[in-house]
Amino acid sequence: MAVTEPAPVAPTVAHEGILRRQAQRESAARTYARSLPIVPVRARGLTIEGADGRRYLDCLSGAGTLALGHNHPVVLEAIRKVLDSGAPLHVLDLATPVKDAFTSELFATLPGKFADHAKVQFCGPAGTDAVEAALTLVRTATGRNGLLAFTGAYHGMTSGALAASGGARDVQVTRLPFPQDYRCPFGVGGERGAELAARWTENLLDDPKGGVPAPAGMIVEPVQGEGGVVPAPDGWLRRMRRITEDRGIPLIADEVQTGVGRTGTFWAVEHSGITPDVMVLSKAIGGSLPLAVIVYHSDLDCWPPGAHAGTFRGNQLAMAAGTATLAYVRENGLARRAAQLGDRMLGQLRQLAGRHPCVGDVRGRGLMMGVEIVAPEPDGTTPAPTDPGLAAEIQRECLSRGLIVELGGRHSAVVRLLPPLTITDEQAVAVLDRFADALAAAERSALRRTRTGSSY
Ligand code: PMP
Repeated sequence: MAVTEPAPVAPTVAHEGILRRQAQRESAARTYARSLPIVPVRARGLTIEGADGRRYLDCLSGAGTLALGHNHPVVLEAIRKVLDSGAPLHVLDLATPVKDAFTSELFATLPGKFADHAKVQFCGPAGTDAVEAALTLVRTATGRNGLLAFTGAYHGMTSGALAASGGARDVQVTRLPFPQDYRCPFGVGGERGAELAARWTENLLDDPKGGVPAPAGMIVEPVQGEGGVVPAPDGWLRRMRRITEDRGIPLIADEVQTGVGRTGTFWAVEHSGITPDVMVLSKAIGGSLPLAVIVYHSDLDCWPPGAHAGTFRGNQLAMAAGTATLAYVRENGLARRAAQLGDRMLGQLRQLAGRHPCVGDVRGRGLMMGVEIVAPEPDGTTPAPTDPGLAAEIQRECLSRGLIVELGGRHSAVVRLLPPLTITDEQAVAVLDRFADALAAAERSALRRTRTGSSY
């Protein structure tokens, strides 16, 4: 397909007006729109052009959705093909050739022998809907109600998914420690910290007075995304697999954000080699359009017809875009590319951290990277307290240099970089240059404020 370079966007006054009307008319609950006051009008790959006439390098990628960046030619071609074919666009959960092709491509990517026993449920279009489906599935299959979930988790905004997320309190959910090096709950980090976290889980499950409601499943992100880019150690994840398997508890891997090559393997569970019982998939599988599924072991498939229904489970354009994306990532080895480039970028971010005391930690896996911003203590205590104000300032400085980054983590103090897997070496250099510049500028103004005693 011929790729024509679009003409540059002419700066327009529309930009201010659109932002003003948005602030007047849209909900107080709007999120990205607050910290990223831009008006995207055109996009290609890593680049977004705004109505202000400026170009931005987009390292938010639709919150990790855009494996191939914006408007990749293979995605556009797949969408156009469906549109030109006269195929129905709305089909509930009926069979179609487009869906058949998507399922075949999806099954071809599944780890290990998963596909041999896999069933797929097409869910409503958002990741959170697939999380709900996974919870219903394991609750039906086990006849139990409890759920094991982790500190720092994020699984979505519908009630079951929200209850499983770190900020929630729910009597059915038992909160278990997610291991992390920098802010290890046991104060030791590393393998020892992960071992203690696993032992805590094991003890709690086996303690008849542990107060744990009979668990229908355990839900875990192989790398916590919204929680601040915290990769689960491979050995710990294998322990979770063993612990759940030995006790007949289905293990649900929430790969909504980590899937499709993002972390350096096609699915993030492949790093540890585990096979979960259920995988929750969304974001990148729709090739930038809304699509969410669960894939699971057929042994669990004992829920009745309509157990998890929904009008919008047949998005043909998303399935076509998703098929093209999955195939492109697989055929072009983009997971391996994410692993290599991610390692390099993390190394460069760590070098940067050495020069900036406000960087407490740099972590990640593949092209899912996080930089935790802290307020260093005069006595050098680590971990230092988070500095959400400075993180927000870094985000603003990035934006003013044409770089879009996301904030995440416990106090929104982790700057997150989620570039598309198609990012070139030159673009990666530009991203890191802009980030380094923004970090230095924000740090300078923080210093000035400390001297003058003013606040953000
Ligand atoms: N699970 C994970 C791991 C996520 O990162 C997200 C979204 N950030 C969700 C579930 C929810 O997906 P959605 O926003 O599409 O409902």
